[in-house]
Amino acid sequence: MILSGIAASNDLYAKLPKFGDNLQLAALLIGNNPASQVYLRIKAKKLNELGLGFRLINLAANTPLEKILEEITKLNEDQNIKGIIIQLPLPETLIQHARKIINHIDPTKDVDCLHTQNLGSFYSGESDFMPATAQGVVDLLSYYNIDVAGKHAVIIGRSNLVSKPLAFALLQKNATITICHSYTKNLSNLTREADIVISAVGKPRFLTQSFFTEGQTVIDIGINRDQNNTLCGDVDFETVSRIVAHITPVPGGVGPMTVYGLIKNLIRLATNN
Ligand code: NAP
Repeated sequence: MILSGIAASNDLYAKLPKFGDNLQLAALLIGNNPASQVYLRIKAKKLNELGLGFRLINLAANTPLEKILEEITKLNEDQNIKGIIIQLPLPETLIQHARKIINHIDPTKDVDCLHTQNLGSFYSGESDFMPATAQGVVDLLSYYNIDVAGKHAVIIGRSNLVSKPLAFALLQKNATITICHSYTKNLSNLTREADIVISAVGKPRFLTQSFFTEGQTVIDIGINRDQNNTLCGDVDFETVSRIVAHITPVPGGVGPMTVYGLIKNLIRLATNN
């Protein structure tokens, strides 16, 4: 079965409370990374479809740190702005200041759940507010009635943005978790033992048929371009989809669910929920 993130998110959007464009998300884009521009356009389009507001602040890559912090302060103080995104990755010259920039966001407007305070609440189990991709995957599994309790989930990737929060979110739902990375030995032995395989590696069609067995659920978070510039995931969808029980496509799987997770987070912040 193909786990469509488009179908799931469309149904889930219809269940969200309705707001007008007085509920606004602000995105701060520093520099002009083309992939970041595409992701922001996708988020803006969805907000627009839902009648929600979006404000883009685009600063030059060489903007001084003080000026960036000033812009964030203005957004923190703007009553119409309910959520703030710092679009990642930051330009090379600002990476050393990433924590300072993110932690300058008012934690009550930190829609990506990247502020140290919000991550602390999440990883201590005090709050279930989590980064958007993790939220999107949790909601996708739940939408398709895939219960993770007691299941063995193998997650490939250990990024702070995607894999670690997702691993913790599934642990909270009583899954048994194995986290793999570039130093992991015998990766295919581990993936073949899993009930659920989740990949966030960022390498086109890296996981071929030999990594999988029948009956598994496969969640492909990777968004890559192959040598023909075709969009694809980390998993070789064409061959792997023939053996496993459930699989997300790329595009149309986790991507739309991440946007849903972001908008769900925005509404939760706006409603203190
Ligand atoms: P990242 O920070 O680059 O992390 C990649 C992870 O893959 C690292 O932990 C790395 O291990 C691991 N890895 C690399 N080569 C490996 C190998 N040969 N075997 C096992 N593990 C290996 O990337 P990210 O930010 O998590 O993003 C991952 C992918 O998801 C990208 O394609 C990105 O575009 C996509 N993404 C999609 C969405 C969505 O909405 N669908 C959202 C966010 C990101 P080390 O830690 O040892 O280096």
